[in-house]
Amino acid sequence: MADKEDKVPKNVNGPFYVDTNCIQCGNCIEVAPENFKEGDEFYYVSKQPKNDEEFKNCKQALEECPVDAIGHDGE
Ligand code: SF4
Repeated sequence: MADKEDKVPKNVNGPFYVDTNCIQCGNCIEVAPENFKEGDEFYYVSKQPKNDEEFKNCKQALEECPVDAIGHDGE
């Protein structure tokens, strides 16, 4: 489970975030290209989901992240 105390600083505020366990596999931007971006060290949430499709994609990205670096309990 991702740790909201260990968020990547570039995440936008909101429920979804990436933490520093990210290994830059790139799956999240394949699954939810509207909401995740590649950073220098870690991927991050660039935009919170704004509709059902984006929400579904973000949840899928969370479930598929190989190191559980995506959380959904942020502020
Ligand atoms: S799926 Fe997880 S490990 Fe892969 S880039 Fe996204 S946050 Fe990082």
